[in-house]
Amino acid sequence: MADSFDVIVIGGGPGGYIAAIRAAQLGRKTAVVERDKAGGRCLNYACIPAKTVLRTAEIYDQAREGAELGVVAEGVSLDWEALGKRRASVSESLSSGVKMLWDKNKVALIEGDGSLTADGNVQVGEEAYEAGTVVLATGSVALPIPGVEFGGRVVDTWGAWSLSEQPRRIAVAGAGASGSEIASAYARFGTEVVLIEMLDQILPAEDKDMARVVERTFKKQGIEISTGTPVSEVEAGDSSVKLTYGETTTEVDYLCIAGGRAPDVDGLGLDEAGVELTERGKVGVDEYGRTSNPKVYAIGDLVNAKALAHKASEEGVVAIERAAGVETHPVDQNLVAGATFCHPQVASVGLTEAAAKEAGYDVKVGKQKLGGVGGATVYDDKDGLVKLVVDAKYGEILGAHVVGNRACDMVAELVATMALEGGYQELAGIVHPHPTISEAIPEAARAVEGWALHA
Ligand SMILES: Cc1cc2nc3c(=O)[nH]c(=O)nc-3n(C[C@H](O)[C@H](O)[C@H](O)COP(=O)(O)OP(=O)(O)OC[C@H]3O[C@@H](n4cnc5c(N)ncnc54)[C@H](O)[C@@H]3O)c2cc1C
Repeated sequence: MADSFDVIVIGGGPGGYIAAIRAAQLGRKTAVVERDKAGGRCLNYACIPAKTVLRTAEIYDQAREGAELGVVAEGVSLDWEALGKRRASVSESLSSGVKMLWDKNKVALIEGDGSLTADGNVQVGEEAYEAGTVVLATGSVALPIPGVEFGGRVVDTWGAWSLSEQPRRIAVAGAGASGSEIASAYARFGTEVVLIEMLDQILPAEDKDMARVVERTFKKQGIEISTGTPVSEVEAGDSSVKLTYGETTTEVDYLCIAGGRAPDVDGLGLDEAGVELTERGKVGVDEYGRTSNPKVYAIGDLVNAKALAHKASEEGVVAIERAAGVETHPVDQNLVAGATFCHPQVASVGLTEAAAKEAGYDVKVGKQKLGGVGGATVYDDKDGLVKLVVDAKYGEILGAHVVGNRACDMVAELVATMALEGGYQELAGIVHPHPTISEAIPEAARAVEGWALHA
């Protein structure tokens, strides 16, 4: 054996890097195996670069629209090279921040491809490492659509966020969180955008009311939206891509496929180590992340239904605490909020109205348009909506949904209320600062009983 560790984490993304730090905090001799960059896909190819480009889209949009607010910015233009440099430097800075945290916590970094051995230890290249506990945190990879391959002008989400030129026209297949973010950024850059979804609404995981608000706003931004229309044919050329969806054929500079992702388990040695997969191809775990091999845990995009960075991190903490035998709590997957940073943003926690009804609840709903509260006019955030789905009997909040410019921040309060088992009645009585958009939250709670003050 090259060395032995109490904990070896394979994969240094938001699941793995946090797990490693927590293990070190608990006094465990810890190593991370990473074959690419600290911070994983999230920091280097997904969440962070996406949000960095979206920030540029926001500034660009505001600069052009500023005249009404008294800011006259003439000759506003995009500097694609500067945008690319900032995108890279934000990721580099956060990735080196992760390395610094590992150093500070004395987490060893083993560079290379890690895999499990039959006895539940870890192999990296020629070297074998002994591990008390192994945490698998290798994330997920983009899936193309059947019959289409990535390459050239057919790109995955990272390809879309890192284009070397601004496209004149782009098609995005898949209107989930990533596809909607890409569509929203490029539309604000002035690119013609076609957003195609095979299911019957954009943002299929979101409540119908919220998806409708976003769809309306996207259309105002000039995005061509097509739902219920899978992409059926793709012909990729050197200078353009021709694609067919529903009855329509169109030609674009780039096609981005923002469909599904699959757990990155290739070559991980799961079979040898007796780690079983679920029917859906994810690594099977209990609510603490333990796999069918008692020595091996799995977290992040490898496990459970949602693929979100904050979920991965929390699963990392819980898995390590469980393995260390210290007090912990299972991750409540129902309280993992979804957050989509398109314009307007969409965030939600818990059940949609339809899902709550399907689960058999007697449901009441409270809605407040953001435009009703003063802050929304001040901050130009009038298109949004807060919607609460509550259990009619006791007032328990079953689901909370927000669309608005800062929805992804606003949802945190709703997650906290649900985690602390507050009902809509408590929310209705919580005093919110004025003038803020968050004033729409108690209003939505009052709306459950029909007495919102700014309805
Ligand atoms: C475009 C896009 C935007 C997104 N935006 C958001 C967002 O805004 N908010 C959010 O919460 N989520 C977002 N996500 C989802 C988020 O990126 C993932 O949920 C998150 O990265 C999962 O973290 P992870 O630790 O499981 O894996 P990853 O971040 O995928 O990291 C896994 C790491 O493991 C390494 N690895 C893999 N196999 C091996 C091996 N055998 N040996 C050594 N190393 C290995 C990889 O190199 C990688 O660095 C986005 C996803 C995409 C695609």
